[in-house]
Parts: sequence; C-alpha cells; structure tokens
Amino acid sequence: QMKEAGANGYKEFNSEMSLHANHKVGLESDLRKAMEYQELFVHYQPKYQIESGDIIGAEALIRWKHNKKGFIPPNEFIPLAEESGLIVKLEKYVFTEVCKHIHRWNKAGKNIGRISINISIVTLLREDFITFIAEHLQKFKIDGSVIELEITERIVMKNELVVNQTLKKISELGISISMDDFGTGYSSLSYLHKLQVDCIKIDKSFIDQIEGNIEVVSAIISMAKNLKLEIIAEGVETEAQVKKLIQLGCDQAQGYYFSKPISMAKFEAIL
Ligand code: C2E
Ligand code: MG
Ligand code: MG
Ligand code: MG
Repeated sequence: QMKEAGANGYKEFNSEMSLHANHKVGLESDLRKAMEYQELFVHYQPKYQIESGDIIGAEALIRWKHNKKGFIPPNEFIPLAEESGLIVKLEKYVFTEVCKHIHRWNKAGKNIGRISINISIVTLLREDFITFIAEHLQKFKIDGSVIELEITERIVMKNELVVNQTLKKISELGISISMDDFGTGYSSLSYLHKLQVDCIKIDKSFIDQIEGNIEVVSAIISMAKNLKLEIIAEGVETEAQVKKLIQLGCDQAQGYYFSKPISMAKFEAIL
C-alpha cells in the first residue's frame, strides 16, 4: 500500500514520522540524563483557605531546566515519560524530593499543612509503590497526614477496582487522595462515593468560565459537601472568581490570583 502511494507520498510520510519520532526519542533520552544531571526540581504552588487567607499546603510541581532548551513545561514531557515508563522514576524522584523538603520544614518547626504530589496510573499501580511510600515516610520521619496524592478521573475509570484497593492501602498510611482536574473526565459521579477519595479539585476550565458554569460548579460543590469531601478550586486568577467561589461555598483555592508555583526556598520563606 505504501508503494502504491508513490515515491513522493512515501517519502513525505516517512520523514514526517521520523521527525516526530526523533523529537520524542531525543527528548526522552534527554529526560533520562536530566535525572542524572540534576536538571529536575520541584516547585510549590501554595493552596489557600479563601476567607482567612491562610496557606493550607501546596502542590508539588515538577520543573525541568534543559541544559540547552531552557525550561520545558511538564505538559510536554509528562505524557512522554508516561509512554516510556520513565514516569515511575520521575515520580519517585519528586516524591523523594518532597520528603526531603518536608523533613527540613519539620525540623525548622514550620507548619506546612499538606503537600500534594501528582501521581500517574503507571506509578500508582506499581507493585512496589506502597512499600516505597512507607519506607520514605519512615526514613524521613514524616507523618502520612502531611502528604496528599493527586490522581485524575481518567486513572479511576479504567481500573476502578484495583485502583481503589491501592488507594485504600495508601489511606492506611494516613495519606489523603485528591481527584485532580475534576469534571474533565467523562466520569459518572456515581463512582465518587465508592472511592477512597478525600478531596476534589475543580478543574481550571470551570473556574475560567465560572459565570457560565455556575450550575455545574455549584452542583460539584454541594455534592462534595454531601459526600464529606474537601473541595478546592484550581486555576483561580481573578477577584471576581474568588467572590463567586465564596458565594458558592467553596472554601479552598489555588491559582495565580494567590500565587504562582514558586521555588522551595520562596515557599519556605512565606510559611
Ligand atoms: P495539574 O496537576 O492540574 O497542575 C496545575 C497546573 O496549572 C500547573 O501547571 C500550574 O502551574 C498551573 N496553574 C495553577 N494555577 C494557575 C492559574 O491560575 N493560571 C494558569 N494559567 N495556570 C495555573 P504545570 O506546573 O505546568 O503542570 C501541568 C501539569 O503537568 C499538571 O497539571 C500535572 O498534570 C502535570 N505535572 C506537573 N508535575 C507533575 C509531577 O510531578 N508528576 C506528574 N505525574 N504530573 C505532573
Ligand atoms: Mg495536580
Ligand atoms: Mg489540576
Ligand atoms: Mg489541570
């Protein structure tokens, strides 16, 4: 079939494919090296109690400063890392970094609230993941209650049973679970009460257009409350959004309006 497409068609198809593949392979091998060369680090975006303005924790977000290309956003390399399986090493790296930081804050007597870490399905379902977490809590003398794992609906829908078993084991370590980017998956809401989840993060897309999404956002908030789940709005950028969220009874928020993700040192300084 390829030959029938003619020499030209074949060539075009081929070079496009390999360009794409080359880019991916290049980035992937760079990512492997990035871990060795310490180009990866963790930033923190504070989370707030809206009305008091208190910091209640932060989300750990990975940053990659490529030696030639400069900063590469996570949305570009996380999917790649997921495909290649490199994500496991990367997320364990983030988890370890966060543990080191928490250990340091604990020693300094800082009240950090709860630090959340994004976890992909690949890592979540690794057999050794629970042991890995437990060992790190012990090694860095960390109480599980200061850690939260953020997972997405996508993860749950595909593997409800086995995911929930894993989430239960994680909860037994005192760690909380939050449902990230909530509302963007095609989930039926019915799974929420069956699932070991503590918190819902309303996706930025709803907050961006909050005036046009009042009914949906309001429904999500009251559902969360009925299920005794915590609720936080993500990607909050304006005062108008903050006011609306207060009106609707959402008491936690995260977003540029309050703070962008900042370095470990900066986060430490504002605690
Ligand atoms: P996410 O987990 O939903 O994280 C929130 C993203 O929204 C972050 O982007 C954050 O910087 C950005 N953000 C927060 N507030 C605002 C705002 O007010 N306005 C705008 N425009 N953006 C806001 P970031 O750091 O680029 O990360 C993007 C995604 O990459 C994350 O989305 C998460 O899915 C993934 N990611 C980042 N770090 C990790 C990691 O360590 N592991 C895994 N598996 N995924 C990660
Ligand atoms: Mg997240
Ligand atoms: Mg999110
Ligand atoms: Mg998001």
